[in-house]
Amino acid sequence: MSDHLMSTYAPLPVTFERGEGAWLWDKQGNIYLDALSGIGVCGLGHAHPNVTEAINAQAKKLLHTSNLYTIELQNQLAEKLCQLAAMDKAFFCNSGAEAIEAAIKLARLHGHQNNISQPSIIVAENSFHGRTMATLSATGNRKVQAGFEPLVQGFIRAPYNDIEAIRTIAQRSPNVVAILIEPIQGEGGINIPGSNYLTEIRALCDENGWLMMLDEIQSGMCRTGKWFAYQHSTCLPDVVCLAKGLGNGIPIGACLARGKAADVFKPGTHGTTFGGNPLVCSAALAVIQTLEEQQLAAQANELGNNIRDGLRNALAGCDAVKEIRGVGMMIGIELNRPCIELVKIALKHSLLISVQAEHVVRLLPPLIISSEEAYQIVNITSTIIKDFASAETE
Ligand SMILES: *Cc1c(COP(=O)(O)O)cnc(C)c1O
Repeated sequence: MSDHLMSTYAPLPVTFERGEGAWLWDKQGNIYLDALSGIGVCGLGHAHPNVTEAINAQAKKLLHTSNLYTIELQNQLAEKLCQLAAMDKAFFCNSGAEAIEAAIKLARLHGHQNNISQPSIIVAENSFHGRTMATLSATGNRKVQAGFEPLVQGFIRAPYNDIEAIRTIAQRSPNVVAILIEPIQGEGGINIPGSNYLTEIRALCDENGWLMMLDEIQSGMCRTGKWFAYQHSTCLPDVVCLAKGLGNGIPIGACLARGKAADVFKPGTHGTTFGGNPLVCSAALAVIQTLEEQQLAAQANELGNNIRDGLRNALAGCDAVKEIRGVGMMIGIELNRPCIELVKIALKHSLLISVQAEHVVRLLPPLIISSEEAYQIVNITSTIIKDFASAETE
């Protein structure tokens, strides 16, 4: 750890030099199996040749011109994403937090355009939307907010997966303009709402004239076995935020919108210097093409089911395991005790995982893994959980 880096992170003592597919090599030449994909970013795994080639080719031509000029690749990417998501328009930025910032600004502007001068947005407990001032204020985690008060105003919090709570807010709060929700909570511990939750939210949004805004930053781009997690239901949101898996490691975010939400921004109301430059768009287009050609949504669905089945078999009878859950390749194993140490233990076993909400082992494997690699993930993960559980109870 350098003396010259701000202490925002506490990195593990390992430095990766090279990657290929689901595998990473450290400086000493040790090899690791990556079941986290750089926090759900590298869905195509590391050094995917299609992405590498696209970036190389574009870097030789043009990196950046700014949004003062037409960017052909941005038009292409917007068209493609809107087609996949059944949205009308896209705004490109550089991160997840910025995609959420765009959605928050869009919702507020929409409110003002409809004579609501103090617009508020419903957000969920346990949610995560980013680390900028507005997105941390929207986030349902005190640890993310503590020390950064005064928070941005205009958010009303409801328990996740509780439609009655939202109904109550609808009755009491005339200034609501939108609801912002993760279709599956990622950082909050892989929390999956009831199968009607999104449809019921859609109905409440229609009744009350709210925008339905989904944070698909972690769950999007085939991670859950569909292009976007809301496609497991029949409902269509008004706004969809993307980032993580969109660029496979090239920083790009997007805020997609449909219908009345698509025309809220006008020239001058929002912007970013880097957003959607030719380089990042070339990478995202290569990612989408590869996801499509290799049918990785279907693969994520199948392998995710196999991994969960495998874990259930291997961990049957392990009392420390409360629940094994997930959709596609977004997988959580909830233990009945805090288990942060498992991250380091996994690293010793050459496996990369994370632990969320203190009790939940999270796996976000690359979507391109083989059945054999999926089996190895199951094998190592279940072994270390069993060892950890028996060591703790002794
Ligand atoms: C990672 C994440 C964000 C924030 O994205 P950044 O690129 O880190 O700003 C927001 N929402 C969700 C659901 C995320 O998983």
